[in-house]
Amino acid sequence: MIVDQRYVDYINSLEKELPPYLEELEQYALQTEVPIIRKEMQSFLKTLLKMNKPKQILEVGTAIGFSALLMKEFMPADGQITTIEKYEKRIPVARANFEAHGDGRITLLEGDAMEILAGLTGSYDMIFMDAAKGQYINFLPEVLRVMKTSAVLISDNVLQEGSIAESRYAVTRRDRTIHARMREYMYELTHMNELITSIVPIGDGITMSVKRMEDNNA
Ligand code: SAH
Ligand code: MG
Repeated sequence: MIVDQRYVDYINSLEKELPPYLEELEQYALQTEVPIIRKEMQSFLKTLLKMNKPKQILEVGTAIGFSALLMKEFMPADGQITTIEKYEKRIPVARANFEAHGDGRITLLEGDAMEILAGLTGSYDMIFMDAAKGQYINFLPEVLRVMKTSAVLISDNVLQEGSIAESRYAVTRRDRTIHARMREYMYELTHMNELITSIVPIGDGITMSVKRMEDNNA
């Protein structure tokens, strides 16, 4: 928890209800310990979608389709989502949820994101990175390649319950590799010329990056 639970509870108490099928899916995910986006992140995404109106969205990390379906509800009516998942137990659940509620606007690509990203030929207005945190740094070059100018990249769970800010010696040995990789990712996002990035301590910590024009002045 990176923000005091009292404040999170208060913020969440103001959330509007989701469409009933999404409320159900959220409950199902919480009961079965599928790590879906938190309430405060849901409203952040909704707001961003209404502001930016991205027509082509790419998601890395579908799980059972909750965030993809939430984005579908708030993106433009002619928008399309492509989402990637490799975990064979979650794929059929996501597929069934998309068949029931996806309105034919969500495409699920099955397999490891590294390989699938490398093969993508389209370009996207928004990317939602929400997969294995230790791999974000590896995904980044391909993600940049498929981002249009002015596209937004949102990366979820970057502050790792706050441990990202601790020294590597304060995190358990088991977590040191992921700690180092996430720090590298954060450094790249905030220092590379192609992106402007804001780190937002919402949910489990996110980054919001915008791809600049080629000349880097716009
Ligand atoms: N975005 C979802 C939650 C995603 S949880 C939501 O908020 O509803 C992260 C998912 O990423 C997991 O289901 C995991 O299986 C998947 N994942 C992790 N690493 C991956 C990889 N390299 N390629 C594809 N999927 C991956
Ligand atoms: Mg997440």
